[in-house]
Amino acid sequence: MKLEEKLGVNKYYVNEGHPHIEIIHDYPDMAEKMKLVNACPAGLYTLQDDGTLAFDYAGCVECGTCRVLCGNTIIKKWEYPDDTKGIEFRQG
Ligand code: SF4
Repeated sequence: MKLEEKLGVNKYYVNEGHPHIEIIHDYPDMAEKMKLVNACPAGLYTLQDDGTLAFDYAGCVECGTCRVLCGNTIIKKWEYPDDTKGIEFRQG
């Protein structure tokens, strides 16, 4: 099974309008932005044509990788979702 298929099996309870992770979209250091693009296992960080970083918290698997890599630079806020929100893993 491909990674995308495995991620699609999970159930996501999204706290609409209240992201548990916030970033600096126009952070000036390209190397820092590319860390997130390349490391997020869910592929939630994408580099835009204008060089800014787009991010969609809705598919987060709460692994913490982005926080470890860029918690002192691009990541402005990183919290686990509220008790009734977040991911429900269905692949072991
Ligand atoms: Fe991606 Fe993991 Fe960060 Fe969520 S916690 S945005 S899955 S790197």
